Amino acid sequence: MTGSPPTVDVLIVGGGPTGLAVANALGAAGVRAVLIDQDAGVADLPRAVSIDDEAMRFMQRLGLRAEAEAVTLPGTGTKYFGARGQLLLYARGRTPPRYGFPVKNPMDHPEFQQMLLAGAQRFPNLEIKHRTKFLSLSQDAETVTAEIDANGARESITCRYLVGCDGGRSPVRVAIGEEPMSGSAFGERWLVVDTVNDPHHQRYAMHHGDPRRPHVVIVGRNGRCRYEFLVAAGEDPEPGEINDFARRLVAPYRVLVDDDIVRCTIYQFYALVARNWKVGRVLLAGDAAHMMPPFAGQGLNSGLRDAANLCWKLSMVVDGRAGADLLSTYQAERRPHVEATVQLSVRVGKVMMSTSRARAAVRDVVFAAGQRLPGVRRFFAEMRFKPDPCYRHGFAVVRGGQDDPAGTQLCQPRVLTASGGIADLDDVLGDGFVLLGLDVTPDKLECLTHPLWSRLHARRVALRFGDQLPERGGVIPEVADLDGLLADQLGDLAGSVVLVRPDRIVAGTFVAETEQNFAHEVETKLAVPESLRVNAEAA
Ligand SMILES: Cc1cc2nc3c(=O)[nH]c(=O)nc-3n(C[C@H](O)[C@H](O)[C@H](O)COP(=O)(O)OP(=O)(O)OC[C@H]3O[C@@H](n4cnc5c(N)ncnc54)[C@H](O)[C@@H]3O)c2cc1C
Repeated sequence: MTGSPPTVDVLIVGGGPTGLAVANALGAAGVRAVLIDQDAGVADLPRAVSIDDEAMRFMQRLGLRAEAEAVTLPGTGTKYFGARGQLLLYARGRTPPRYGFPVKNPMDHPEFQQMLLAGAQRFPNLEIKHRTKFLSLSQDAETVTAEIDANGARESITCRYLVGCDGGRSPVRVAIGEEPMSGSAFGERWLVVDTVNDPHHQRYAMHHGDPRRPHVVIVGRNGRCRYEFLVAAGEDPEPGEINDFARRLVAPYRVLVDDDIVRCTIYQFYALVARNWKVGRVLLAGDAAHMMPPFAGQGLNSGLRDAANLCWKLSMVVDGRAGADLLSTYQAERRPHVEATVQLSVRVGKVMMSTSRARAAVRDVVFAAGQRLPGVRRFFAEMRFKPDPCYRHGFAVVRGGQDDPAGTQLCQPRVLTASGGIADLDDVLGDGFVLLGLDVTPDKLECLTHPLWSRLHARRVALRFGDQLPERGGVIPEVADLDGLLADQLGDLAGSVVLVRPDRIVAGTFVAETEQNFAHEVETKLAVPESLRVNAEAA
């Protein structure tokens, strides 16, 4: 039944980490939204065990930095060991950290979700309904109507957009006809054991490439630990035998009593990506759009990236500052990055977790040789193998050339403020669009006059490179790059202005002389109807 006026702007189906992140981002943007989840509360079983630097930065933007830090451990990366237990490589990210946080932050999935739920409850414009199951949907040109089972009562909710964050089996994905996803099921099965009272003290994750029994150990907060063991063909413990099976495998590390087992289960992993992440007014995010083996620890992180990418676009479309076509940039940007991340996860599994003695031996020799070459060592140590988001084919004004930062993620250095304080860059930038002047004085930034900047509510910030002091006073804050990260990333563009998107992706760069053209191109990307543009300019 469609055609009735929308009761909310956005309906979020699924209150896992992705749905809750979407709820936080839309809540903060003032969008009227409802989140429904079929369960009575957030899931209390652990799945993901770490979040990365980009995800922590997203938490910072959502105003949840302290809360996220309280439920994570600042980790130091991952050590990969060879067939004989020898260290092959230690992947620990760059120094200083590019985005302001460690690259791997172990956490407890239920605690993390609880933190996101509490964050979402801050917003009066957001309603959260548990014990509410999505059943089906229909849509027309203006609205989507979802049939739901609310605690036993059949009801419907009409919204302008529906975001399916309802996990790997995604009834929303099925309802829009996006089955099956493309990709493959991993034939392998893995025993996943979460424990407490663990004796490990390492702040790094450990991947053991012993072909006889590849396994992973990830140490968490407060004595928690995650063990993952490849289950061999023919090993088929009955449900009643699974704890004994885990006890045998964990024995080299600790004595495991039943009371110390939080969860013990056998998983089969998938490498799947949905073809269409947007059908009409329905969008998919998180595991509903993609699933990947956990070997690169990127499943949940990818869902959070989806939320960061989608929500500012959705809020601008809902409040009329952008046209509906802006939403098509969501899949254009996110899908290629997810595909690369799925491939990385599969590759890490195949190479580091191989069961072939011959392949493991070759791997170990190659990595040992590679470690002697500084460039190769740095490539792995700094985790340059992890695909960086680079959104050239969506909401970015690309000028071309390798050095054009359009579509890439802005680094987050520590900055020196005019008052002599030290802050993280994003805390100065705020949570919306930013015009960031690179060695451009505040008065020059003030001279940017295109009406688009006020429609974007773009904050203006002047950044000084080199060993200079920021100027005191003024409406436009001036800061100096303390870590030199932005000088490395954007130093060649001194004298330019960078338009930074709310998700900290560089939308493009311009100089005063090209401001009007640049603004026009941004308006085209925003898909703002011509009538609105003229009105806004006249205003
Ligand atoms: C063993 C293992 C280890 C992992 N390790 C990592 C890691 O270290 N790092 C990482 O980034 N990722 C990891 N992952 C992946 C990560 O757990 C998932 O990618 C992530 O949980 C997906 O979140 P989501 O919110 O998209 O989906 P889900 O967490 O599956 O949430 C979906 C929600 O939708 C609700 N729902 C479903 N159907 C309906 C319906 N009809 N109506 C209403 N609600 C509905 C469900 O109740 C659920 O709350 C791991 C996964 C596994 C299995």
